[in-house]
Amino acid sequence: MKKASIEGKGVLNNRISEYLLNSLGHCGVKTHLVKRLNMREQLIKKVEIIPIEFIVRNIATGSLSKRLGISEGTVLEKPLLEYYLKNDELGDPIITKEHIYAFEWAAKEEIKDIDKMSFKINDILQGLFRGVGIKLVDFKVEYGRIWNKNRQANEIILADEISPDTCRLWDIKTEKKLDKDRFRKDLGNIIEAYQEVARRLGIMPEETNISEVNFGKTTSIKFKK
Ligand code: 5GP
Repeated sequence: MKKASIEGKGVLNNRISEYLLNSLGHCGVKTHLVKRLNMREQLIKKVEIIPIEFIVRNIATGSLSKRLGISEGTVLEKPLLEYYLKNDELGDPIITKEHIYAFEWAAKEEIKDIDKMSFKINDILQGLFRGVGIKLVDFKVEYGRIWNKNRQANEIILADEISPDTCRLWDIKTEKKLDKDRFRKDLGNIIEAYQEVARRLGIMPEETNISEVNFGKTTSIKFKK
């Protein structure tokens, strides 16, 4: 797995994720976000994380194209939801619902709720990004359980960041990649792409909020009041 520290990316992801989770919250999706604390930190609800990565795809690319030979860029007739086990040592293998139930990673009712939430999140985010000229190609989300005092009934909430690190975002006109694939595929201009997403979402108006300062190889983000 490729690793690098890209200065400024965390700050941008924090703002973008805050904006997207709040937008989902306004549409009735329950999330772990309480509030953004500062440039790099968020206050979130404590959950018992479900050990599954839920991936929703609208356009074929990435591991779907690689694994099944589906041509890159194929628009899927309807969104495709996949399950992957959260296990770095095993390389997050793809799993089926039968695996989830057999090994009790989640209950049937929970998966039913999560499937519904995942498609709802996809609908909301697709519309939100389409409005700013961006195609939501795919994304990964995780969910967590909140237990009540008697550890009886539980509630499932979205418990993950949503940012260009966890979504594939393509410019509608040019199909330019505005996400982590710029890093994965060595395309360069990572910070610029993340800034573009933030700017289009109206989080960081180009001239009023943000200036970019270059310190040698890395890029820092400096906020102005
Ligand atoms: P793929 O399975 O094609 O590699 O990824 C599908 C989508 O899920 C992409 O948007 C990718 O960014 C996201 N994704 C998959 N696995 C992970 C992961 O372990 N961490 C993060 N941050 N995103 C992931």
